Amino acid sequence: MRVLLIFIDGIGIGEDDPQVNPFSVAHLPTLTRLTNGQRWVKGIGRVQTPLATFIPTDPRMGVDGLPQSASGQASIITGRNIPALIGEHYGPRPNPTIQALIREGTLFEAVCQANKTSALIAAYPEHLKEEIERGKRLPASYQQAILQQGIPLFGLDDLLAGRAMSEDWTNQAWRDFLGHPEVPLISAHEAGRKLVRVARQYDFAFMSHWMTDYVGHRGSLEDAVQLLEKLDGVFSGILDEWHPDEGIILLTSDHGNMEAIGDRRHTANDVPTLILGSHKDSIASSIHTLADIAPKLKELLLN
Ligand SMILES: [Zn+2]
Repeated sequence: MRVLLIFIDGIGIGEDDPQVNPFSVAHLPTLTRLTNGQRWVKGIGRVQTPLATFIPTDPRMGVDGLPQSASGQASIITGRNIPALIGEHYGPRPNPTIQALIREGTLFEAVCQANKTSALIAAYPEHLKEEIERGKRLPASYQQAILQQGIPLFGLDDLLAGRAMSEDWTNQAWRDFLGHPEVPLISAHEAGRKLVRVARQYDFAFMSHWMTDYVGHRGSLEDAVQLLEKLDGVFSGILDEWHPDEGIILLTSDHGNMEAIGDRRHTANDVPTLILGSHKDSIASSIHTLADIAPKLKELLLN
């Protein structure tokens, strides 16, 4: 039983308002097919189709204020209500209290202790990798969780060798912003197929995508629509390459943001959790908040 967790930073389930919510206007044939033709906007509720189960998921977890990245991501990977434990939502990078809670145990650690394999399959530019490894740059919660298991971050070589993914899916950022024209441009569909092939090398693969949160803070509705349409293409590739009996693919987010373009802050909205795979319904009914995800994935991975 393999698990691929696709972490999309900063997407929530917002008002069905075509002026501000890219989920209201983007052309998303694959994502909406997975939810029975329904767009991922307020009112959608839980949706079960033969291929997927969609769960509006609570990132607030009983704590006042707007959900933030470090505490949300830490809840996803530890399976604990981190905002309640620290008394606030905190981010973007983990403070010492969150770092200590991550050191107390994560899903990555449970997988390693069971002699199974895991990886963060996003590739990082060398300067960023080096800054994180030297302690010059604070890792995100999920990066800390990987690094404390002694699992290295992937870089350019891994991307070129087909062992890792670009966080922007198509490699365009490596060519346009990171100065690596040798990295081939691929379609979103091909990226989805590649994502499955890379993830297959591990029992538990974690893929991260941060551009959605960035666009939520400072992008336009057009940028946001483009990102979602790319994600839709990625899922069409996933569905072509992957067989539901292989395990579980789970998409989730840490807090809302990009579903309310114009409001540059995070939102208090539920976030989408989408689960694919033959065993999806054995875990879906137990997932209500971000802290419910890791324990269920652990059950699947360790059984
Ligand atoms: Zn975030």
